[in-house]
Amino acid sequence: MTKAAKILIVEDESIVAMDVKMRLTRMGYTVVGYASSGEQAIQLARQTEPDLLLMDIKIKGPLDGIETAERIRALQDIPVIFITAFADENTLQRARITSPSGYILKPFQERELSIAVDMALYKHRMEKSLRESEERYMLAIQGANDGIWDWDLQQNQIYFSRRWKEIIGYHEDETSSSLEDWISKVHPEDRERLQMAFNHHLDGLTEHLECEVRMLHKDGNIRWVLTRGLAVSRTGQRPFRIAGSISDITALKQAQEQLIYDAYHDFLTGIPNRVLFIDRLGQAIERQKRNHMDGLSVLFLDLDDFKVVNDSLGHHVGDQLLVQVARRLQKLIRASDTVARLGGDEFVILLETTKGITFARNVAERIEEELKTPIKIEGHEILVSASIGVVMVSIEHHRNASDVLRDADIAMYRAKAMGKDRHEVYDLPYNQIAAQRLEIENCLFNALERGEFQLNFQPIYSFPDRQIVGIESLLRLNPVDGTPIAPSVFIPIAEEIGLIRDIGDWVLLESCQKMSDWHKRYLNKSHLDIHVNISIKQLRASGFVDRLKEILDLTGLKPSRLKLEITENVFTENIEQIAVVLDQLTLLGIQILIDDFGTGYSSLGYIRRFPISTLKLDRTFLFPSKGNRSNEEIIKAILALANQLGLKIVAEGVETEEQADYLDELKCHFGQGFLFSRPLESQVLENLFQNNMVQVTR
Ligand code: C2E
Ligand code: MG
Ligand code: MG
Repeated sequence: MTKAAKILIVEDESIVAMDVKMRLTRMGYTVVGYASSGEQAIQLARQTEPDLLLMDIKIKGPLDGIETAERIRALQDIPVIFITAFADENTLQRARITSPSGYILKPFQERELSIAVDMALYKHRMEKSLRESEERYMLAIQGANDGIWDWDLQQNQIYFSRRWKEIIGYHEDETSSSLEDWISKVHPEDRERLQMAFNHHLDGLTEHLECEVRMLHKDGNIRWVLTRGLAVSRTGQRPFRIAGSISDITALKQAQEQLIYDAYHDFLTGIPNRVLFIDRLGQAIERQKRNHMDGLSVLFLDLDDFKVVNDSLGHHVGDQLLVQVARRLQKLIRASDTVARLGGDEFVILLETTKGITFARNVAERIEEELKTPIKIEGHEILVSASIGVVMVSIEHHRNASDVLRDADIAMYRAKAMGKDRHEVYDLPYNQIAAQRLEIENCLFNALERGEFQLNFQPIYSFPDRQIVGIESLLRLNPVDGTPIAPSVFIPIAEEIGLIRDIGDWVLLESCQKMSDWHKRYLNKSHLDIHVNISIKQLRASGFVDRLKEILDLTGLKPSRLKLEITENVFTENIEQIAVVLDQLTLLGIQILIDDFGTGYSSLGYIRRFPISTLKLDRTFLFPSKGNRSNEEIIKAILALANQLGLKIVAEGVETEEQADYLDELKCHFGQGFLFSRPLESQVLENLFQNNMVQVTR
């Protein structure tokens, strides 16, 4: 374009004008005309739209060259070169204001003219493209809705654009220009990350700055903001400036979160889906392996004849039914358990409990019970039942979640095969388990007679002074010709086959006798209580209170020194009958404790209605839960409520000094666990008493 550039000459001496025109034409420019006065120049400039004005400063008429140039440039973006014979300071000063692209002093050489014209055209082109790119940049930024920041590292001043402030709800004049001010508006948890991102980039560790943080909007809400930036430095030196943008990505984040949520939840019922279930089950299995304990169970539930509902009433009703079933299942389990929909009419439930198979069966029974109430959908009353497979997760047999699901599925099929509307427990080598159970049953029938039962005693300590205040008796079964059997295994069986009453009486008699003896033999132990575990079946059996009175008479133990531990599920049925028994016991002066509190279904509301003195907080509450202090919150809440209701709390399963300190801190009343003492044989405990040791070590 250079050579074809159009030039307008303004010159009142026609000879000079002709001369310049000739020279320019020789150089390859197009001279679009020449004007001899200001007015004429303005008119020609408008008509011919030249790329350059060659303007004599001194021209005829009311307008001189400088003023003419000014007027033209007010309307058109055309560079000007002044030609003048007078270079007095005053004139030059006036000319300068119009920011000309050059001067040529008369008389001039052709070469001077050529350089001046080339330079002027070039400079103008560059300025124009720079201006355009700046405009494009501004437009892009405005279009992208980003906020701009520009940090002068030498002055330590940050410029924030209007939009930057707007994104977090501030007006132009509302924020200062310091980094501190910026950081203070970042969510406290994200501040360090942003600082690091800045530091890394300024240290040259990253090619650019990019960091997503939450910022606190003036309205109190949180906005997700993507911060980007680039540092500017001279080679080999630390940056002197860093600038960039922030963009509001809140909507994007929310959409991402929704996507993640959707990926883990069933679209129809909103409960967890297969993916989330497998994830949670997998984690629970790992936890179980680490802690070397049992206690996980899975229920696999398939609705009976769901197809009939779907076919006869339509998919719409079928879907509604699934939603209702999901709701009912959710209502039945605790917040710590998981109900998920695997797909179709299949649901699964993950229970974490230390109560073994009885607990899982219990939940299955509740589900069966719950489904007996018809579900109302669009005027239809639908009665639906389920076949449930129950599996106890075992570290030996289940490597992962799918192993467990497979077995739960098998058990569910057995429930279907056995007539539906029922639950079946998966037992690994079925025959082996059945044989084992038979063996335990046989053993139990003769154990009392053969003297195979034994009691162990585990002390309970007070906080903060850590003195023994009581002793819990724990039953052991050591068959003469076999390996010991754990109470969590044989007690449910004894309950089922109706032996618990006799066994329980034996435990009560032995326990009361032992404590009564100790009171007599060790005078300084006469304040100790004996804690005895009582099964619900025992409480419900007729004549319990009378037999207990006899035992107290016989052994001479003060009723006030006897504490009975019962589990929460006493409150699940026949509450009125239980209430009468508990009242009678309390009248005798015996205290009632709730064992394993927090694992069952009872609410504190229930507990208030009964004469309960103490809650034994289940040991699962003390499980270390890294980074998750929710257990702590629960313990605090329970303690607060207990204090209000005048109840004492015993924390079970205190295994570490750390847990003890922490319970101390929370002002928990009592603790029991391996840290203080394992359950001991009576002889061992007596030796300790003999030596008057208060602190019993492992
Ligand atoms: P429980 O009444 O909650 O007894 C506490 C259980 O936790 C005992 O298990 C005890 O050995 C264990 N334990 C105590 N401290 C710790 C600790 O720091 N860490 C861990 N991991 N465990 C600890 P055990 O002796 O196996 O008894 C299990 C359950 O069997 C008892 O739970 C109770 O419900 C039942 N049981 C025991 N004896 C009798 C009884 O005579 N009658 C009845 N009906 N049930 C009994
Ligand atoms: Mg107990
Ligand atoms: Mg317990």
